[in-house]
Amino acid sequence: MACRFVCSKTAKKLRIKVTLDGVEVVVPEDREVQDGLAFVANNQAWVTAQLERARQLRAVRRPDKRMQGQVLFRGELVSVKVLRIDRRIAPNKVALEESGISITCGSDARTPASRSLENWLRKQARESIKKHLADVAKRVNRTPNRIYIMGQRTKWGNCSALGNLSFNWRLIMAPDYVLRYIVTHEMAHLAISDHSRRFWMTVQSICQNADRARQWLISNADNIKINLSTIVDSVPDKQGILTT
Ligand SMILES: [Zn+2]
Repeated sequence: MACRFVCSKTAKKLRIKVTLDGVEVVVPEDREVQDGLAFVANNQAWVTAQLERARQLRAVRRPDKRMQGQVLFRGELVSVKVLRIDRRIAPNKVALEESGISITCGSDARTPASRSLENWLRKQARESIKKHLADVAKRVNRTPNRIYIMGQRTKWGNCSALGNLSFNWRLIMAPDYVLRYIVTHEMAHLAISDHSRRFWMTVQSICQNADRARQWLISNADNIKINLSTIVDSVPDKQGILTT
């Protein structure tokens, strides 16, 4: 692990700072670098955890310029506005308006705007998925056991051995035919568990846009996996700081 030592005239205490650039140890004038080394050694577990956290933060996809203040919703880029109102005590409110999505929050609301936006998107996703499920169920002649809405960044849908289906809420960012394809795909797994030729024929017979939908998900993966807080929260993630 690379560590940078900075001697400080103003610092009163030893301090370890873990940022995206690495580990920095601030050593007060009256202390030895040895003390700094010992301090790091004694807090090895904390430093390792912070480094891991920094690595994950770096891996989070940042939106490109075009995406700032915008989010994909049902396949279209929609602008997102956060309205901060002084002394508002009601919970954050998300609404779809003609001009885009608006999030109304109190100026010191506890819930981040991004969390409220995610909850709202999850709700929209659940409703759309249920609608498609009811429709596709008639075509495959199967009914799922339970439905889960999940939030992994890597998976769009899943069908368990118990007949439970899960779907990624982020699919609400995709056009309706993409959502329909994923619902069809998982529903078809209730009848055929593998990815055999028969499986694909079944999917294809219910959903003509399957190839186009898969292509859309590949081309838009970065935008759909976006971290909502980089779009709407003005306060960036704090870096890890530990003092003696
Ligand atoms: Zn599959």
